Formats: sequence, structure tokens, C-alpha cells
Amino acid sequence: MSLVNLLDLLPSEMESLVESLGAPRYRGRQLAGWIFGKGVTDLGAMSDLPKDLRQALAERCAVDLPEVERITPSQDASRKLVLRLADGSRLQSVLMPDDDRLTLCVSTQVGCGFGCAFCLTGTMGLGRNLSPGEIVGQVLVARRLLEPGLRITHVVYMGMGEPLANYAATVKSLRILTDPHGFGFSPRRITVSTVGLVAGIEKLARENLRVNLAISLHATTDEIRDQLMPVNKAFDLEALLAACRRFPLPVRQRITFEYVLLDGVNDGPEDARRLVRLLRGMRAKINLIPFNDWEGSSFRRPALQKILAFQAILLEHGITATLRWSKGEDIGAACGQLKESVSVRRGRAAAELTAP
Ligand code: SF4
Repeated sequence: MSLVNLLDLLPSEMESLVESLGAPRYRGRQLAGWIFGKGVTDLGAMSDLPKDLRQALAERCAVDLPEVERITPSQDASRKLVLRLADGSRLQSVLMPDDDRLTLCVSTQVGCGFGCAFCLTGTMGLGRNLSPGEIVGQVLVARRLLEPGLRITHVVYMGMGEPLANYAATVKSLRILTDPHGFGFSPRRITVSTVGLVAGIEKLARENLRVNLAISLHATTDEIRDQLMPVNKAFDLEALLAACRRFPLPVRQRITFEYVLLDGVNDGPEDARRLVRLLRGMRAKINLIPFNDWEGSSFRRPALQKILAFQAILLEHGITATLRWSKGEDIGAACGQLKESVSVRRGRAAAELTAP
């Protein structure tokens, strides 16, 4: 009998689990507090749970954390974590300190099947989807590596994979992270980034999760976006932006549009002006990401002058546009640079890629 990974369960499901074992429901909240709150994974060490309950749990459950295979520190103080899963496949998470923030970038899939032309992860293909426990497990593992006094303040779903293509696990992991008896993160401190799966965005809008949404936009015409991001052939700019306009935003929250600047491709003044027109009337902000080179890529980072000119046009039109010099560029941990060998079966890729 395979053991249930407790990291896959919501605190309410832990309550039901202990109830099924004859214990009162509040014991489930205690169990969740040990695991998500204190990061304790040894059932035997959960001293305020009755011994017979711990025994019954140990017969049915385990806490399966990804193993840390490698930690690569960057000169900018970010750290890339290479994690190994039970089936031998690997994924990456990145810890990124920035002033009083400490952001963890998590993966939702092993590899990615979307094949964006500028993205190294996209060259891996899709290995498999992660389970909710494998997603929240990245937070637990990263938290264990922190120096005393430090804590993860923000979580971004921008690592390997497309979160909305692994919809159910992504949403469950978000519920575990934001549950007061789970990790207790404020939803405002969590951002889900999508390549633009319209059906997934609309479904997410109905979940009442109140997390931030980020869209990988990267182009202002369908012609260029088709070339950069094959997903645009299924969900074009008009459909994507219409879904964004309908997305319910809590007060003072805005949708973030990620825009990687590629020399001679999407970085001209006419692109910037089109971007202004596309986002008119929307509560939006733009993150401009100068391309992070990787070996074998045909794209180049634009000259600084061009980058600043692009930003200036957006600012002149009253659009918040921040330049994001990616963290961890020197260690291959920057946006679009995450890659590990995929060591699991690829056969499931096509089925798992269908939009939610
Ligand atoms: S940018 Fe995101 S969706 Fe596109 S290939 Fe890379 S990881 Fe996948």
C-alpha cells in the first residue's frame, strides 16, 4: 500500500484523516501546525499528538520532501536549489533576497511543454506535472535552508513549467500556502504567472483565491507572439487581454505583464506604443526583463539605451514599468534559464498539456 504524502493534504483534509482514525478533528489542525507551521516532518517528534494516533498515521502516511541535490549561490545573493523527487526527476527553485523581501520562485512541472522560443526551460519538454505536495515541499525545503531570523515573504509561481497547465495541483498548493492552518501566507504575497491559458485564467478567477496574476506577454502583435510563444496560436492577444480585463482584482491590486526585451524583435518604440494601447484602461503594471542569454539561443539582449527608451515611452503614458534585472543570471537561475535533465517518462506530455 502506498503511503499518503501529508504534504498533499489541506489542513481540513488532515482533520478528516485523523477523524477517520478515531481522533478529534482538532488533532488534524495540530498535525498541520507541526508540518506547515514548524516544518517538522517526523511524525514521532509531534509530541502533543497521542502516541496511538502517531502510530496510526505512520502506518498510512509519510511526509515526502524533495531532496536537496545542489545549492548554487549567485553573486547577487540569490540561490538556485536543485531538488530531486522520489522518482529521480529534478526541479529547481530559486531563493531571491531583495531588501526586506525574500522571494521563493517555485516550479509546478518538471520541464515545460510550451516551447517559448526565448526560454531554456522550454527546450526540455515536459517531464511531468508536480503534485501539490511537491510544490509546497519546495517552500518547506527552502525554509529549512534559511539563516535564523530570515523567512520567506513572497512566493512566485514562475519556475519550471506552466502553473495553469497543472491546474488542480497548482490551486491546491495555493490553498495550502494561504490556509491559516497551512503556511498562512497572505494571498497578496503570492503571484501565479501564466503563459496565457485563457481557460485557466477564467477558472482561476472563479476560485476566490485573491492571489496576484502575472501574464507572460512578451509581444504586442499576434504575428510576433505566434513566433515567440506557440500558445498564442490557441489563445491570441485579443482573447488573452479580454480574459485579463474580466479577472476580478482586489482593491489596489494590478495584473503584472512580463515583457522580455529581445533585441530587434519586440523592443522598438512602436512596440512600446502598441503596448500602451493594448493595456489602456487596465489596472496593470509591466515588468521589463532584459533577455538573459543562454548558450544556443538566437536572441540577444538589447543595448541599455534601447531598454531605457522602451521604458521611457511606457512611463510617459502613465504606465508603471519596472526594469527587472533578473536575479541569479550567473548561475542559470534567472527568468527563462532554468533547466535540468528530464529523467521521467515523456509519454504523458501531450495529455497533460491540454488547457484546463
Ligand atoms: S516561458 Fe514559461 S511557459 Fe514558456 S517555455 Fe518557459 S517555462 Fe514554459
